[in-house]
Amino acid sequence: MATMITTDCISCGACEPECPNNAISQGDPIFVIDAKLCTECVGFHDYEACAAVCPVDCCVTDQNNIESEEVLIARAKQLHPETQFGDNFESRFRKGQGKAGAPANGGAAAAVANSDGAAATGQPAAAGVPVYAEAEVNFQELPPIDSWTVPMRCYKCNEPHVEPVTNFAIGNVIFCPHCHKSTVVRDNLNYHIRTLLKDAYDKWETEQAQFLARREQELAQLMEKRAKEAETFETHQKHELERIRQQLDVIGDNYDAPGKPLRKGNRFRWS
Ligand code: SF4
Ligand code: SF4
Repeated sequence: MATMITTDCISCGACEPECPNNAISQGDPIFVIDAKLCTECVGFHDYEACAAVCPVDCCVTDQNNIESEEVLIARAKQLHPETQFGDNFESRFRKGQGKAGAPANGGAAAAVANSDGAAATGQPAAAGVPVYAEAEVNFQELPPIDSWTVPMRCYKCNEPHVEPVTNFAIGNVIFCPHCHKSTVVRDNLNYHIRTLLKDAYDKWETEQAQFLARREQELAQLMEKRAKEAETFETHQKHELERIRQQLDVIGDNYDAPGKPLRKGNRFRWS
C-alpha cells in the first residue's frame, strides 16, 4: 500500500522534507504523494515518516494500491542505487522486530502499523526488541611448549620417526627406533626449532591482544556514535514538537469565522 494524503491536508508542508524519496510535493490545493516514488519508507524507517509528522493525520495507507515489502524495497534500491540496504533494512512490515518505533504523534499510519491494535504512545516499542549481547570470542589455546613433537626421517635407513621437542637440546643424541643409528642435535637444528616455537607463541599472544584492543576500540567508537545519534534525535524531536505547536497556533489564529457554519465532521479525532 503506498501512502496517500487525504483532503484533510492543511498544506503545512511538514511532511515534504521528511520523505527519503522526495515523493511529496505541493499540489493544488493540497500536498500530494507520487506513488511511483513512495516506498512507505521501507529501506529507511520502520514507520512512514510523513505520517509521523503530519499534525492532522492525513497521511494514510492507500487501500487501493497494495504493494508488498519486496516491491517496495526493490523500488528503494532503484531510487537509491548508491545506497547499500543489506538484508536487515528498515521496514514497517517488520515493526517491533528489533527496530525502533516511530516518533509517534498519533499519526494515522503509525497507529495502523501497530498490528496488535494498541494505541500509539509516542515511545519506541520496548517489548519484543531483542537484546544484543557482544559475541564471545573463544580463543584457541596453544598447547604447552614442551608438548610438541618433531617428525624426523633417519638419514641412514630413511624411515620416519617422531621425537619430543625436548629431545632437541644441543648435543643430545637421538637414536633411530628402526636402525638405531644416532643423530647429534647441533646448535643450528636446536636454533631453528626454538626460534620457530618462540616466534609462533609470541605472535599468538600479540595477535590476541591486538584483536581484543581493536574490538574494545570499535565498541567505544560505536557507543560514542550512538550517543551522538541519540542526542541529535532528541534535538530533532524537540524541534518537531515546537513545529507542531507553532502549526497548531497558526490553525488557531486562522480560525476566525464567527457564524460560519461548522464543517461537517471534525478532522480532530479526539473531539
Ligand atoms: S511513506 Fe515515506 S516514502 Fe512514502 S511519501 Fe511518506 S515519507 Fe515518502
Ligand atoms: S504534514 Fe500533513 S497536513 Fe501537512 S502538508 Fe503534509 S500531509 Fe498535509
